[in-house]
Amino acid sequence: MIYGLYIHFPFCVHKCFYCDFYSLENLSLIEIFVESLLIEIDLQTINLPSKPKIDTIYLGGGTPSLLTPQLMEKIFAKIYDKFEIIENAEITIECNPGTTDIAYLKNYKSLGANRISFGVQSFIPAELKFLERIHSVDEVYKAYNLARKTGFDNISIDLIFSLPNQSFDNWKFSLAQAISLQPNHISAYSLIYEENTPLFNSYKKGKIAKNNSDLDADFYNITTEMLGLAGFNQYEVSNYCLPGQFSRHNCKYWNSSEFFAFGPSAVGVIDDVRYKNFSSLSKYNKSIKSNLRPIEYTEQLTEEIRLFERVFLTLRAQGLDVNTFKNEFGIDILHICKELFVLFIQNNFMTIENGFIKLTADGYFIGDDITLKIMDKIENSDYSCRNANAGDVRDIL
Ligand code: SF4
Repeated sequence: MIYGLYIHFPFCVHKCFYCDFYSLENLSLIEIFVESLLIEIDLQTINLPSKPKIDTIYLGGGTPSLLTPQLMEKIFAKIYDKFEIIENAEITIECNPGTTDIAYLKNYKSLGANRISFGVQSFIPAELKFLERIHSVDEVYKAYNLARKTGFDNISIDLIFSLPNQSFDNWKFSLAQAISLQPNHISAYSLIYEENTPLFNSYKKGKIAKNNSDLDADFYNITTEMLGLAGFNQYEVSNYCLPGQFSRHNCKYWNSSEFFAFGPSAVGVIDDVRYKNFSSLSKYNKSIKSNLRPIEYTEQLTEEIRLFERVFLTLRAQGLDVNTFKNEFGIDILHICKELFVLFIQNNFMTIENGFIKLTADGYFIGDDITLKIMDKIENSDYSCRNANAGDVRDIL
């Protein structure tokens, strides 16, 4: 088994208006956190018979680019000590353009990092201000060019669309600027109104008007069209890459692969058990001090859960492999969902090619509804098709 490894770094200079990731603004706690993190890695690996093999590492957050080179070295030394990092592993560090520094970038490179993910979000100053991002547009260009100069040949850019009062022209401008930088990968998310964020509270109080789903769809269509024309393949509902340059780490989530996770609020899956760490640095530190892993809850991934997640996650991403699905769950999905799939294909929501069920750009947009309809069909079948042969996909076209 080859695993992924995620570390959640829980600090930011300023909490953005819309963000519900666990992060604190008290940067004086960073060193204490790193000490706890190193112990957490020890606690999780101490009883393993051999070093787990890792082929993707993702240092996210939060704002990991706040870590000094000394602290970053400590973290990587621990990772290299406790895990076997295989050759050509993908090692990503999330960077805020406002805290990106040439010495820090060189440090990442020397530690083996080979991918940078920049949280850019917009190229319009007023939008960055609305989102309460700490960086300026100038800093985006500067940080991006520094990363290229430092030798990072794999860079991703995150963008957000469908902001209140955002014009289509402004969104097209941000997309065009992102494309002009020639990144390898772009993640473009619709603004989510997460509960307990200042954004959500402002919306609830009527201070902010949320775009309706038709407007959301228009922004989404602009995104898929512009990125498609620029040569980016959509390989997940919000993720686009130049050919072959998808995020190997993120694909682990969508393929239901297993991964270690460390840091407050981090979620990992090992041996079919999902675990979530405390979303509280003080609880996290306290648990570590008592030599206990800082786990808030665990969940055994039963066949039922795995089945739902396999449909939901693979359809959101690179598609559901009919034969693998049948081998794992004993379900002939083409047989059970035949009429449904014919309808989805006729409406340009789905394609079935080479044994893969994939959603189109239109299908991605209503992916949750599609998953629910498929699950409804599966749950209401008696699984009597478990022993049937996987039908030839051409039968239903
Ligand atoms: S920088 Fe990122 S993680 Fe930090 S508050 Fe803003 S959106 Fe959240």
